[in-house]
Amino acid sequence: MNELAIGVDLGGTKIHLAAIDRSGQTVVESIVPTEAKQGAAAVLNKMVNGIADILSRLKDVRREGDVVGIGIGSAGQIDFSSGTVAFAVDTLPGWTGTPIRDKVTERFGLPVYVDNDVNVIAIAEKNFGAARPYNSFVCIALGTGVGGAIVEEGRLVRGAFGGAGELGHISVDFNGPRCSCGNHGCIELYASGTGIARVAAEMINANGWQPEWQADSREVIAAWNSGDPHASEVMAKVISALSTHISSVIHTLNPEAVIIGGGVSEAGPAFFEALREETGRRTGAAMWKATTLLPAEIGSGAGVIGAAAQIWHYGTNTINHG
Ligand SMILES: [Zn+2]
Repeated sequence: MNELAIGVDLGGTKIHLAAIDRSGQTVVESIVPTEAKQGAAAVLNKMVNGIADILSRLKDVRREGDVVGIGIGSAGQIDFSSGTVAFAVDTLPGWTGTPIRDKVTERFGLPVYVDNDVNVIAIAEKNFGAARPYNSFVCIALGTGVGGAIVEEGRLVRGAFGGAGELGHISVDFNGPRCSCGNHGCIELYASGTGIARVAAEMINANGWQPEWQADSREVIAAWNSGDPHASEVMAKVISALSTHISSVIHTLNPEAVIIGGGVSEAGPAFFEALREETGRRTGAAMWKATTLLPAEIGSGAGVIGAAAQIWHYGTNTINHG
C-alpha cells in the first residue's frame, strides 16, 4: 500500500511531474517549462531530468524504493503499444516519432506507460473522480483545444494506432471555418478556450459591439455569469455548438456518462445546466435518459495523477506490453 508511481503530464507550455500514491494523493511534485521550441531531444531530456529530480527528492524522505513505475501523458497522438509519438500537435514541434517509452525505460529500468493526455485524464476520473461509478463513458476536455477519451467496458478505445477519441475534431458545421485538421467547423473552433475567444471576436466584429470585456474565454464566461447580454449571445452559440457535438457523441456511443473537464468546464453550474437542457433537446429520448452529463472532479492535477495511475490500471508486471 506504500506503492508510489511517478506521473508526467507533458504539455506545450509546461511539464508537470509528481509522485502519486495509490489513493491518488501527491507526495512530491514539480512543474518545469517545456520550452518546446528547443526541439524533441531537449524536451525528452527535460522530462528525464525532471523524473530523476522527483526520485532524488523521494530518496530524501526514504521513499525512493516505493516507486513501482512511471506513467506519462503527452499532448499529441500517442501509439500506446510502442509508447511513441504518432503525431505531434503544433505546440510540440518535432515531437512526432519520439520513442518516449524506450528512452525513459532505458534510463530508469521501471515499467513505463505512455498515452495521450486526455486518455490519462479518463484514467484519473475512473480511479479517483467522477467516472468511478461508470464503465462506459466519454471524457471531453475543454482546454486550449478540445480533447477526448472514450472508455468502453472499462477499456480505453484506441483504434488503429491509438488515435481514437479525437473528439475535438468532430465538426458541428460543414460550412464553418477551416480547422488545422483539414475539416471545417470542428468543435475545437467553438468550445475550447481559444474557440470561445474566436467566436467572441467574430460576433463583436459582425455586430459592432463595444463590450466591457475582451474576446478572451475567461472574460466572456465571467461576463456571461454576471448577466452581460452580449456575452450571453456568445455563450449561447458556444453551448449550441457543444450540445450538438455531445449529442453526436451520445448517439455514437450510448455512454453511461459524459464527463466534461478542462478550464472551460470551470464555467460553473449555469454552464452545465444550459448544456444539459440543450443537449437533452438534441438527443433521442432513450439515449439521453441513459446518459449523465457531469463535470470532471479532479481539477488541474488530473493529467499528472492519471498518468501515474496507468501503473495500477495496467499493472507493473511487465515492461513490454501492448
Ligand atoms: Zn479539426
